[in-house]
Amino acid sequence: MTIKISEKIVGYELVSADEQKPAASVAAAAPKFVEMHEKVKRPESLVGSTYKIKTPNSEHAFYVTINDIVLNQGSTHEQRRPFEVFINSKNMEHYQWIAALTLIISAVFRKGGDCTFLVEELKSVFDPKGGYFKQGGQWMPSLVAEIGDVLERHLKFIGLMDDGLDEHQQQFIAQKRAEFEQRSAVKQAAANCDDSTEIYPAGAQLCSKCHTQAAVQMDGCLTCLACGDSKCG
Ligand SMILES: [Zn+2]
Repeated sequence: MTIKISEKIVGYELVSADEQKPAASVAAAAPKFVEMHEKVKRPESLVGSTYKIKTPNSEHAFYVTINDIVLNQGSTHEQRRPFEVFINSKNMEHYQWIAALTLIISAVFRKGGDCTFLVEELKSVFDPKGGYFKQGGQWMPSLVAEIGDVLERHLKFIGLMDDGLDEHQQQFIAQKRAEFEQRSAVKQAAANCDDSTEIYPAGAQLCSKCHTQAAVQMDGCLTCLACGDSKCG
């Protein structure tokens, strides 16, 4: 499209693609909805959740609190978004970098836009001193990775992330799990006697895809009951 400029250009401003669209249909006068951006003021109170992280490497637990802001409350554009994160612990060993990390994550939250990338970034951090299994049998390569795991749980809880499995995959996992549990019903009964916190069958192997101790051997196929990954050998 060519635009003929018949007058002198006296000024200009940058218009983003997002801003251009409503300008075209300005007559509709759509009501303004608040999007997350740096200038959104922190309300007096926020809704939040606190998650406990207990690693075998620290005597004291870490408590991760993520507070959310609810934008456009009561409207069809109502949206719950993370606003700030705090991490508390009696363990002072990691105080310096945890303080820095929480400031930066909170800043990313307040910038608006997609913040789900933080999950993968944090979960891919490896501790050179070695990782550990968290309760439930999932392998955590570092404390940073477990903070990423907590963030993932929270973003799924408030609906900003889905669990990455479609209906078909969920059905497949549920079916495999039911089959496995039926076959090892006797073993399960015995396993239930000790108050184990494992959510996957005892003796499950480590899945190479999602690093959860949830892979069970069935009909010559190693099938993961967490992510559905299946290898037949
Ligand atoms: Zn898996």
